[in-house]
Amino acid sequence: MAETKPKKKAEVKKKVPERRCVGCRGTFEKRDLLRVVRSPEGEISVDFTGKKSGRGAYLCKNLDCFKKAKKSGVLRHALECEISDEIMDIVEREIKFEMENADD
Ligand SMILES: [Zn+2]
Repeated sequence: MAETKPKKKAEVKKKVPERRCVGCRGTFEKRDLLRVVRSPEGEISVDFTGKKSGRGAYLCKNLDCFKKAKKSGVLRHALECEISDEIMDIVEREIKFEMENADD
């Protein structure tokens, strides 16, 4: 006797939030991106929590992409604000750190 098992519904894949990198315009999972945010007060900072309010721009954790972005000023364009060297240094350091610690 052929028993017909009720078909299991395909498991719903968890939706991973994706954002676009302003440098290479590629889409990445949020954890692979760094968020630079301009607060309503006009202060630029690197958002490590992803929860800061304000206008945000994402950069993927790729040094080549960062260098290009730095050169072309896309970050400045995206945030409509000058980005200080200090912030760029923080971003660069963070990307380097992430690349060195990537366990692939
Ligand atoms: Zn990128």
